[in-house]
Amino acid sequence: MYIFTCYPSTIAMDDMFPNTFTRRRVLGGLLAAGALGAGGAVVWNRRSAGSVPLQPALDVLRDLPRTDRMPAVFVGHGTPWSAIRPGPFTETWAEVGRRLPTPDAILMVSAHWLTRGGCLVTANETPRMNYDMYGFPEEMYAIRYPAPGAPGLAEDVAEAIRPGTPVAPDDEWGFDHGTWLPLMYMFPGGPVPLVQLSIDYSRPPAFHYELASYLRDLRSRGVLIMGSGNLVHNLLQRGSAGLPPFAWAEEFDTTITRFIREGDHQAAVRFLDLGAVASAAHPTYDHFLPLLYVLGVHADGDSVTTFNEGFQEPSVSMKSFVIV
Ligand code: ZN
Repeated sequence: MYIFTCYPSTIAMDDMFPNTFTRRRVLGGLLAAGALGAGGAVVWNRRSAGSVPLQPALDVLRDLPRTDRMPAVFVGHGTPWSAIRPGPFTETWAEVGRRLPTPDAILMVSAHWLTRGGCLVTANETPRMNYDMYGFPEEMYAIRYPAPGAPGLAEDVAEAIRPGTPVAPDDEWGFDHGTWLPLMYMFPGGPVPLVQLSIDYSRPPAFHYELASYLRDLRSRGVLIMGSGNLVHNLLQRGSAGLPPFAWAEEFDTTITRFIREGDHQAAVRFLDLGAVASAAHPTYDHFLPLLYVLGVHADGDSVTTFNEGFQEPSVSMKSFVIV
């Protein structure tokens, strides 16, 4: 049994002018210390009674042909243990990766890269591996996800969102585990150029949905836009893997899913209006915001489907969405 810590860190951006950003860590140890067991080997599938292996909910997501507009994907990433202990969720990631059209590049918004006062974009040719979790076995830190960067795409991303926020290139962050964990299964070997965009955690949820709309056109240029977080993510109230979700966790999961299926994105943006259920599902909402980036790049005529409809722990939903 290993004790692990896994939390987002926030970087302050004190200067609003590009290329003169200074940074300091202002929030550390946001969430910490929990003991995990089987690393997602057993999950709760609420479609069935009891603790059972998860059946991928991919009936609707057939092999997708390459079209003029790439899909957008929100992936629930859950525990880093999945990197070294594959299970039903990682099998589904691999299946989804095989069914998606191969993108020219990926733009990822990860719950684990938070900034204040503006956004950063990974801009170097070969971003580093960022092992932003602690206390795991050594094999975790030997993982390499060798996706190249895409400086040209980083420039385009910055240009696209600059009307909405201060933004600057970054060559330090690299790829954090919110990014490389699902992608090492979805696109094994890292063949697709990859850029990460940080989340300005000083801004309200509506800001993120709006900012994402500036990125929508990238979908028509072969870019797969992804958000990586969790639909329910509370590491303060935990239960053993295999136990059913907490009532508040299931209620939040079901409610937000209904909003999305009905196309009521504004209700999802206003998730805090759900009150106690929302604050239980997200004591901090860093893992929810990536979903708003995926909803924000929707286009007329898009439909939505889900995969990994299950809980990794009673307070961690792995439900994921594909907009296509
Ligand atoms: Zn996470």
